[in-house]
Amino acid sequence: MFDDLTDLYQQVILDHSRNPRNFRVLDPADRRAEGTNPLCGDQVSLYLRMDGDRVREVGFQGSGCAISKASASLMTEALQGRTADEIRALFDQVHTMVTTGRMPETGDLGKLAVFTGVHKFPARVKCALLPWHAAIAALEGRAEPVSTE
Ligand code: ZN
Repeated sequence: MFDDLTDLYQQVILDHSRNPRNFRVLDPADRRAEGTNPLCGDQVSLYLRMDGDRVREVGFQGSGCAISKASASLMTEALQGRTADEIRALFDQVHTMVTTGRMPETGDLGKLAVFTGVHKFPARVKCALLPWHAAIAALEGRAEPVSTE
């Protein structure tokens, strides 16, 4: 059972890394941010269109490993329709999950749960979190690029 679950998670990650969703520049965008993970060579540009405090549309461009691409792809789906506060709370839950493997006691991470195994591969944690750091930077309107280092 556990092996099947792991395989299913790997399939979702491979699918999203090969066919990333929302892989496009939004021009014009209300918010944007750049992020890099020098350890792995991952790079991401994130674009947000807002409706007040709520994310209406998300796009990203970038290059890097399968984990960073899949994380960005699944994140863009998760951000749509959420407020900045909801996204910060979601980021905290994702951060806990990929660093410890613990799932949140409340709420549901949905498809983001596929990254629960990342904590077993410490070198990959920053790959999974890079797009999230970029999303927070974009929401906070930070102009300088974010780096995981
Ligand atoms: Zn990476």
